[in-house]
Amino acid sequence: MPEADPTAVEHAARVAATFRASLRERPVYPVDVDPEGIRKALGELQDAPMSPSEVVDELVAACEPGIVASGGPRYFGFVVGGALEAAAAADVLTTGWDQPTYNVVSAPAAAMVEEVAGTWLKELLGLPPTASFGFVTGGQGANTVCLAAARHEVLGRAGWDVAARGLREAPRVRVVATAERHGTIDRALRLLGFGTESIEAVATDADGAIDVDALHRVLLGGPSGPTIVSLQAGNVDSGSIDDFTTAIAIAHEAGAWVHVDGAFGLWAGACPTTRLLVRGVDAADSWATDGHKWLNVPYDCGYALTAHPDAHRAAVAYDAAYLHNEVALRAPGDYVLESSHRARGFATWAALRQLGRDGVADLIGRCCGFARQFADQLGAIEGIEIKNRVALNQVLVRFVDDATTDRVVKLVQRSGECWMGATTWHDMRLMRISVCGHETTGADVERSVAAIGDAFSRAR
Ligand SMILES: *Cc1c(COP(=O)(O)O)cnc(C)c1O
Repeated sequence: MPEADPTAVEHAARVAATFRASLRERPVYPVDVDPEGIRKALGELQDAPMSPSEVVDELVAACEPGIVASGGPRYFGFVVGGALEAAAAADVLTTGWDQPTYNVVSAPAAAMVEEVAGTWLKELLGLPPTASFGFVTGGQGANTVCLAAARHEVLGRAGWDVAARGLREAPRVRVVATAERHGTIDRALRLLGFGTESIEAVATDADGAIDVDALHRVLLGGPSGPTIVSLQAGNVDSGSIDDFTTAIAIAHEAGAWVHVDGAFGLWAGACPTTRLLVRGVDAADSWATDGHKWLNVPYDCGYALTAHPDAHRAAVAYDAAYLHNEVALRAPGDYVLESSHRARGFATWAALRQLGRDGVADLIGRCCGFARQFADQLGAIEGIEIKNRVALNQVLVRFVDDATTDRVVKLVQRSGECWMGATTWHDMRLMRISVCGHETTGADVERSVAAIGDAFSRAR
């Protein structure tokens, strides 16, 4: 056996810290990335053990060429935040402490930090203080847990115990969802035994938010009975947010459980200048949101919240004699799909502690301001059009036509100056800019606008 090497973890932490310190200046995307080269550098499995420090060195050498500076200030791809310093540090501790987070017996501190951070999250997002919450892997995990709770509750109200009896012969559940929902809603519904063909899609308006009249028509046009309605805070392309006051009232009148996928958009509620956008969202039955996007907590971290703690637990908790929680305190494992899992509460607590209420509000408001700056500065260039109403942190940009738009995106991605992706939305190819990072400044936006302008001149 090789000797325990006390320096490997320290060494890795130093490499991580050095990488983080380089985020502002390194190319945003690695130049000429070669996935096959990385595979080769990772080697073949050998017979003999290796020293931990050597392993770290080898891993760093093999992987550095394929590491994206996605936590840096000029990465605007997908919807990706960086990691706040305290949150990244807490994540290092999480690894060191290595707590099997199931309940207060298996991980006392991890269980309590979740209770505290979960309470803070509800306050910041403007959700009911009585809501249940689970610290999950991300938006996908949150949507899945929330929709499992929804399935349990709506069938329970119809006299059917889905936990015991399953879906065979169960009353039919109507699933009504916005047409521009995120793909993770479909995946969650698929896993829960609702075929995607059973989803009744509701039309959206020009900006991608649900058309509330269409929602009304769809709900009235079908049978009453167990119904789940899935709404959205933050269209993944346009950033648009559904009209919750109206949509939730309509859905509740039809007796539905209302779920809100608010992976990033729910954070509008944590900032005075954007709070009105999510007005009425607290009346929903469940909410899914991410920590690793706009809160800038390291991957992976999301939150599944519901207004029905009993349904939440009944849908996903399990019990075993050896796990029995003799302490009458909340068990983290009762609210997520995993049994043992990473202690995600530490990093969330640290992020909220670092920012405070004002810092969270400032982070959200600042990102929205930078999105408007992108829209104003790019929109002023002849030939460039902004295609969405920029109310949140997303900007959709059109460069003359589909082909030119794709060319501009490719050139920008290769520049190393900044990185943004492309999408197809409302039948147009568009550059998609998402501002979520705590490190981004107005100067980073200007530098990125210059890089985009330059790419556009070359692409024409
Ligand atoms: C990102 C996103 C998701 C999925 O979240 P993950 O953290 O990637 O699992 C779901 N819904 C919306 C609206 C999103 O933006």
